[in-house]
Amino acid sequence: MAVVKCDFLVIGGGVIGVSIARELRRRHHAKVVVIEKESSAGQHASGRNSGVLHAGVYYKTGTLKARLCIEGNRRMREYCRLKGIPLNDNGKVIVARTAAELPALRELHARSLANGVRVDLVDEQALKEIEPCAKTVGQALYVKDTAVVNPQRVMAAIVADAIQEGVELQLGCAWHSRTGVDCVKTSQGQISYGHLVNCAGLFADRIAHAFDVGLHYRILPFRGQFYRLRPESKVQVRGNIYPVPDLRNPFLGVHFTRRPDGEVTVGPSALPLLGREQYRGLTGANAADGLAMVKYLLRLFGRNRDHFRSIALGELAKISRSGFCREAEALAVGFEPGDLLTGKEPGIRAQLVDTRKVELLSDFVIEPGPRSTHVLNAVSPAFTSSAPFAEYVVGMVG
Ligand SMILES: Cc1cc2nc3c(=O)[nH]c(=O)nc-3n(C[C@H](O)[C@H](O)[C@H](O)COP(=O)(O)OP(=O)(O)OC[C@H]3O[C@@H](n4cnc5c(N)ncnc54)[C@H](O)[C@@H]3O)c2cc1C
Repeated sequence: MAVVKCDFLVIGGGVIGVSIARELRRRHHAKVVVIEKESSAGQHASGRNSGVLHAGVYYKTGTLKARLCIEGNRRMREYCRLKGIPLNDNGKVIVARTAAELPALRELHARSLANGVRVDLVDEQALKEIEPCAKTVGQALYVKDTAVVNPQRVMAAIVADAIQEGVELQLGCAWHSRTGVDCVKTSQGQISYGHLVNCAGLFADRIAHAFDVGLHYRILPFRGQFYRLRPESKVQVRGNIYPVPDLRNPFLGVHFTRRPDGEVTVGPSALPLLGREQYRGLTGANAADGLAMVKYLLRLFGRNRDHFRSIALGELAKISRSGFCREAEALAVGFEPGDLLTGKEPGIRAQLVDTRKVELLSDFVIEPGPRSTHVLNAVSPAFTSSAPFAEYVVGMVG
């Protein structure tokens, strides 16, 4: 079989891979090939997330997340308007479930102001006007620029643009191994490249390791389960209701989100998995991933850095329906356990762990390698941030 040649080879047809491919094509007018192992793009995190365009509230100033999310929010909203993709533009409220959460709420307020995000600290009365069903203790944070989209519609538009701009998308084509300094073996034959960009989401660490990059990093998969809110529920959400998160936890907690089609989702949880694509039951579980998860969870638990134990136990409590209901009940007036309907597809987070320090990484991680660049921790809000994220990575490629 003939070797396919390209200037840039991007592995992974999620929002990050396709956005980077578009940016490479725009800047270099070169032959850019994206390989995606599935039969269509965006079948994993990029098509299975909450669809929230985050405003930049949570991230410490100076982090990549803070820089790229705020700009990404503006650009993604603009893109949706240009493409006629519906947006729920009603913002979000972050509520305190107890008085003990108020210092963290104020910290989020301070971070938002430092990041230039439009927010207001509001009292209980003002909260009722913004989000009538939301509950809080004392104060809440109103974030005006949070919006919600259908991520699959956004993905479809970005892919269509990429193809129209000349990016070549090779579907059903999986990266298998590195066969030389500028050549890889795929399920559809060999491809040689000038530069490779690894955007393989849940598998990005494995590909990076083949380039001797990020050997002290490993991706741990966490499943985010969502419920749908019964349309007749007394909880009528306008935008988003989020809890004050534990700021040391990479996950934001169970929240209510009204999608542009009117459906309200409740979730996600964060269940550690025994397989990277274990979407249902034990399907997809395997010994290697299972052992790694158990090993690192035990080490994280043992070290208890950043109060990992209490965070993990809190997350585990949400696995049962009753634990999940308790989380939802604490955010909204009128919520009843019967309000939760199943049937919403879960998503799996590709969370990076530093195996030397035994800690979960919170910021985006991008590592250079031989004739290659590796995107290793494209966790939330990477969907929101995808346009400036792509420019940043292409800037690193040079
Ligand atoms: C439950 C959940 C909720 C989230 N909520 C939000 C949110 O509200 N807002 C937000 O901004 N972000 C959110 N995120 C994060 C966001 O979805 C991700 O940051 C983003 O989708 C990452 O994109 P990606 O392209 O890196 O990964 P992916 O979309 O996973 O794409 C990686 C692609 O690589 C392909 N691939 C893997 N291995 C190979 C191989 N060997 N060969 C070829 N192809 C390969 C995969 O098939 C996949 O299509 C959420 C994530 C989850 C899981």
